[in-house]
Amino acid sequence: MGRKWLKQEKRTKEQLFDALVKNALGFVETSLDHVKERPKNSIVDLYTAIELFLKARLMAEHWTLMLSKPETADLQNLYVGDFLSVYLDDALKRINSILGERIDTAASDNFKALGEHRNQIVHFAHSGHDDLAATQAGVIVEQWASWHYLYAMLTETWKDVFEPYKIELQKLNRRMMRQRDFLNSRFTILKPQIEIEVKKGKTIIACGHCELASAVAGEVHAWGTDYSCLVCGVSDTAVVKADIKLPCLGCNEEIEFFDATLAECPTCHFAFNTDSLIDLCTAHIHEGDQWWEEGAEHIASCHNCQCTRPSVFVIDGLWSCVSCFDRGWQAVTCEHCGAFVTGDMERIQYFACHKCEDQVRQEFAAMAPVGAATADGQDADKQA
Ligand SMILES: [Zn+2]
Ligand SMILES: [Zn+2]
Ligand SMILES: [Zn+2]
Ligand SMILES: [Zn+2]
Repeated sequence: MGRKWLKQEKRTKEQLFDALVKNALGFVETSLDHVKERPKNSIVDLYTAIELFLKARLMAEHWTLMLSKPETADLQNLYVGDFLSVYLDDALKRINSILGERIDTAASDNFKALGEHRNQIVHFAHSGHDDLAATQAGVIVEQWASWHYLYAMLTETWKDVFEPYKIELQKLNRRMMRQRDFLNSRFTILKPQIEIEVKKGKTIIACGHCELASAVAGEVHAWGTDYSCLVCGVSDTAVVKADIKLPCLGCNEEIEFFDATLAECPTCHFAFNTDSLIDLCTAHIHEGDQWWEEGAEHIASCHNCQCTRPSVFVIDGLWSCVSCFDRGWQAVTCEHCGAFVTGDMERIQYFACHKCEDQVRQEFAAMAPVGAATADGQDADKQA
C-alpha cells in the first residue's frame, strides 16, 4: 500500500476528514480481528490507525497540515486524492509546534516504539516457528498499551474533534478490554507449568505488562529483578521500588511519586504525567550520585525512552527516569557532544551517546573512502 492515495472522485474537505477517521477506525477493527490468526498484522494495523488519527487531527486544524510538504499544497490535488501525507514523527512534531498541544511523552514514546516494532515486522522475515499463543498474548499487551494512550487522546484531549465517532470508539474500547479474557484463560492453562517452576525453587512475581502472577524471576540486581513472563512472553526487569516521597505540586502532601501508574494525587487530584513529574523532581532534587561534583549537571537525558526533556534524577540512591521508570544506569557527560546522559558507559566512551550517535555515524560515513561508505557505525567497526 503506497503513501499516495488512490485517485478518487472529487470530495469536500469534510468528506475527506470523515473518510480519514473511518479508515482509522477500520484499522483498529482489523487490528483486533487479526490477533487470532495473524497477530503480527495486528501491530501493523494499529500503527496505521494511529498515523491516520494523527493526520485527521491535523486536518481538522487545517488541511495543508496533513501533507508531507504543506508548501506544495494544491486543493485540486487534495480533492482527487493525489498527495503525499505526513509520517508519525512529523505529525507529532506539528501537533506540538503548530497546534501548541502537548502530547504526553509517554504516549509519543509508546507510538514510536510501536512504529519500530511495525518496521521490524514489515522489513524482516520471521522464522514462522513462533509459539502462536505466546505471540498473541504479547501482541494483546502491546495493543493495550498503545490503545490506552490513543483512546485517551481521542475521547479526552481531542474530544470535540472526534465527538461524532464517540460510539464507534466506545465499541472498539469494549472489544479491546475483552482481550483480557484471553490472557486470563491462558493463565489458567499455564497454571500447572507455573506450579512446576515454583517446585523447582523459582520465584514467581507479577508481570509488569499483563499484570498476572506469571513472571519467573531471574537474576536479581541492585536496581531490580529480571523476569520472563509465561503468559505474555515478555522479558523485562521488575524495577526495585524507590522508597522516597516528595510533596505534591498541588497540595504539598507527601506522595510516593516514583510510580508508573500514578495518574493523580490521591489528596488533591493534581494530574501527574511525565512533565509534572520532571517539574516535581527538578524542584526538589538538586544533587547527583556519589561521583557528582557541586555545580555539575544533575539531571540526565534517558537513553532508554529518549524523552525529549532530561528525565533522570538520583532517587533513593539510583539514577531513575521519571518518564520510563527505568533505574540503575550510570550517568555521564558524553565526550563527543557534551550531553549529560545515561547509557552503556563503554558505548558512550568509544562510540557515542544516544543524542549524538546519528551524527557520529554520519561522520564515520564521511570519513570512509567512496564505495565503502556506510551509514551504520557498527558496520564501520566490522570493516576496521
Ligand atoms: Zn506478562
Ligand atoms: Zn496533591
Ligand atoms: Zn527513560
Ligand atoms: Zn553524545
